[in-house]
Amino acid sequence: MVNPASGIVVGEVAATTLAEVDAAVGRAERAFESWRKVGPGERARVLRRFAGLVDAHLEELASLEVRNSGHTIGNARWEAGNVRDVLDYYAGAPERLTGRQIPVPGGLDVTFHEPLGVVGVIVPWNFPMPIAAWGFAPALAAGNTVLLKPAELTPLTALRLAELGREAGLPEDVFTVLPGGGPVVGERFVTHPAVRKVCFTGSTEVGTRIMAGCAAQVKRVTLELGGKSANVVFADADLEKAAATAPYAVFDNAGQDCCARSRILVQRPVYDRFLELLEPAVRGFRVEDPALDTAEMGPLISAGQRDRVAGYVDGAKVAFTGSCPEGPGFWYAPTVLLADSPADRHWREEVFGPVVSVLPFDDEADAVRLANDTEYGLSGSVWTRDVGRAIRVARAVEAGNLSVNSHSSVRYWTPFGGMKRSGLGRELGPDALHAFTDVKNVFIATEE
Ligand code: NAD
Repeated sequence: MVNPASGIVVGEVAATTLAEVDAAVGRAERAFESWRKVGPGERARVLRRFAGLVDAHLEELASLEVRNSGHTIGNARWEAGNVRDVLDYYAGAPERLTGRQIPVPGGLDVTFHEPLGVVGVIVPWNFPMPIAAWGFAPALAAGNTVLLKPAELTPLTALRLAELGREAGLPEDVFTVLPGGGPVVGERFVTHPAVRKVCFTGSTEVGTRIMAGCAAQVKRVTLELGGKSANVVFADADLEKAAATAPYAVFDNAGQDCCARSRILVQRPVYDRFLELLEPAVRGFRVEDPALDTAEMGPLISAGQRDRVAGYVDGAKVAFTGSCPEGPGFWYAPTVLLADSPADRHWREEVFGPVVSVLPFDDEADAVRLANDTEYGLSGSVWTRDVGRAIRVARAVEAGNLSVNSHSSVRYWTPFGGMKRSGLGRELGPDALHAFTDVKNVFIATEE
């Protein structure tokens, strides 16, 4: 494992072999038989203790993430805090996972939310801690056992979380982290018949293959994939606020964020003014050693990712850039591009780096048409002071998570996920539990 801010090796982790994955699946299958029978109160207590331990080790987890992923310390603290909150939230679930009693003739009819069994969670490198927790917390709360595969580049915090889970009282083999390659560990989750569900976050390309593999076994699958979200700024918006916050909406986590608002659409009469306001916000964006409290952006995850990002900027029309450190580490300066047309490659494809493209639009219909002219549909923002327009546009944009006069995407109380090729199913919020259970209907005859 390499520190992306320095290029220095911070640790080595052995990759799990295929035989080890199979053995782990067998153990998780056996552990499921007892974990599903643990009373709801006890399951809740274990998850609450787990949340408490994450809180007690928040600083340690955060600094480990800074070293392994290059996240700013501020972001990494938020991420560890999110794991704690998600565990706390789903600790309330085992005692509230109620079925229904449905009126039928001739007897009593009741439904149960049965756990699925062994759940495989596959996580990308961009948010190693929260994305892991969005899978394992509701899955464990619902009575499943979990095998988690972190990304090859960023396994360290997931391994530490599994240790804290054991310390909190999770029985052996209920939650196991299996570091290793996607085509070995991840693919085995898809092909192994005893893994009953795959919860995947990553690229649309790999997600498509995973869905096809799961289809062959009618295996349940949740997919959280790529994005190319629009930030739509109308002429009547609070332009100062929209421009001041736009850099965070895309350069946060160095743009390696599936929800990044990487396409800014600005209504033509305020287009020049918006760019004037955006420029100082971008130039002032602090890109520095992510371990510093003042850092707003750190390096990219790897040299390969930096080269990929640079490939999108080559030959494009650069409006202005921010700055970044020189020297070792995988740095790239925040960059604002002017799109010539919606056909530009940087406008259409997910860059997954600190690059944003700007394009003017004429009216509301034009804005909606341009925002929807993408295969993705994860998130987006609408900036306007007109309430009716805010609601109309938020409803019309084909994306799973819209925010009005805000760039927030993730709140653990509410459902999160994509439309179109951004994914399938929803994580977080109350409904996520249903993604880790099957409804069973039982009829009991009462006629004599
Ligand atoms: P990736 O698809 O390359 O890898 C994601 C995970 O899948 C990794 O753990 C990887 O090892 C594993 N994997 C790779 N090949 C596999 C295979 N054949 N079978 C099973 N598993 C396999 O994605 P990445 O580059 O790590 O992450 C970036 C992508 O993730 C971006 O497209 C981003 O938009 C997306 N993402 C989406 C969300 C969301 O919630 N929608 C959140 C974060 C990231």
